[in-house]
Amino acid sequence: MISILLPIIFFVAHYAMSIVFGLYKIFLTIIKYKNIIYSALFNKIPIEDRKKVVIIGGGFSGSIVAQKLENDYQVTLIDTKDFFEFTPSILRTIVEPTHVRRIQVLHSHYLKHTNVVQKEVLGVQRNEVVLDDRTVEFDYLVINSGSSYNSPFKESSVVSSARANTLRENYYHIRKLKKILIIGGGIVGVELAAEIVDHFRGKEVTIVHSQSRLMNRFPKKAIRYTEEFLQSRGVRLIYNERVMEHRGNVFITDQGSEIEADQAFLCTGIIPNSGFIKNSYPDAISEFGYIKANDQLQMSGLTYYRNIFVSGDVLHVREEKLAQTAECTASIVVNNINAIEHRAENKMQSYKPFSKPVLISLGKYSAIFVYKDWALTGFIPAILKIAVEFKTMVRY
Ligand SMILES: Cc1cc2nc3c(=O)[nH]c(=O)nc-3n(C[C@H](O)[C@H](O)[C@H](O)COP(=O)(O)OP(=O)(O)OC[C@H]3O[C@@H](n4cnc5c(N)ncnc54)[C@H](O)[C@@H]3O)c2cc1C
Repeated sequence: MISILLPIIFFVAHYAMSIVFGLYKIFLTIIKYKNIIYSALFNKIPIEDRKKVVIIGGGFSGSIVAQKLENDYQVTLIDTKDFFEFTPSILRTIVEPTHVRRIQVLHSHYLKHTNVVQKEVLGVQRNEVVLDDRTVEFDYLVINSGSSYNSPFKESSVVSSARANTLRENYYHIRKLKKILIIGGGIVGVELAAEIVDHFRGKEVTIVHSQSRLMNRFPKKAIRYTEEFLQSRGVRLIYNERVMEHRGNVFITDQGSEIEADQAFLCTGIIPNSGFIKNSYPDAISEFGYIKANDQLQMSGLTYYRNIFVSGDVLHVREEKLAQTAECTASIVVNNINAIEHRAENKMQSYKPFSKPVLISLGKYSAIFVYKDWALTGFIPAILKIAVEFKTMVRY
């Protein structure tokens, strides 16, 4: 009975939320156009005379900075992709490729006064950013280059249609696989395994995790629920082992276990995208490649750089790398650039890491909501995750 009711409730809730967020989107559009009209009427400085802000990266952080500054500055957004993407839902697209349409939006669609350049930044010099064919001057630089995951989770150097094709190919590819190995039992490994077993029947999925529990920083209740969810769907969990090598389709761990798999997905850790800054500012790069900044998020090393800001995943702070952190640091950067511009540096804000709620999907109808030591599991967090996706995408 419940298995019939659940999709119906889900479907109804889904469409009820579409209506609510549709109205919310209209509200946001009114606010946005109010700001554009206000800026057109009262910002008398011609756009070519305004201060130049260059933004590297158009993910969660860079897209917000561009949206909030484009009416008052001459903004250039440089991104290897030509679109914003709601990464937390990317794993859903691997089993449901059409979902990609809901989670991507072209930068040129939501940015009205920003010069969008689809290129890779190769370097940063004193007051200019280096591309392969030119340099772009800045008065303020905001680095939001994020982090890289193993393909197919995030991709650079692709346009949206190519991205959709890649995801679709993965769908058809995964459909054919019988034995799948997931290396790493953190959030991404868990979500990927859950999407696969929730969507496809009869696949043999194994997770090899180097720690003694999945997502070991989370509350016990959340971990237990996740383990039960996966094990009840036949996922094999191997703890305290690391995959070291593979011979053909046999993967071998440091403890000598051999796992046969048609395909392995590497879901271990992230790599900060900071290579382009290394030559000019080696002192600003931390041991693990993150970019260092002071509390006001100005890039720092031996000294601090007044007009260069760092935000999002690439920022050197010890905390879970989350979309919400990227949004939060982006808003602080916007405030601080405005404070400097208006000679009100006493109004600059600081960023200190703090606990944020996290939502982890376990397939379509189940999820976990974790906040500090508290966890809520099941259907309600699954609805919440859709709500967060809606709430984010209507901003674009
Ligand atoms: C599978 C998955 C699931 C996740 N789930 C969640 C979740 O449920 N909740 C949550 O809060 N977070 C989640 N995250 C983390 C979240 O996606 C990141 O924290 C967030 O995307 C960081 O935003 P950002 O703006 O710092 O960087 P990104 O979103 O990584 O954007 C960086 C942008 O910069 C571009 N770029 C990089 N280098 C260059 C360069 N040299 N020149 C030009 N452009 C460049 C990239 O192409 C990209 O467009 C998840 C991540 C993944 C991969």
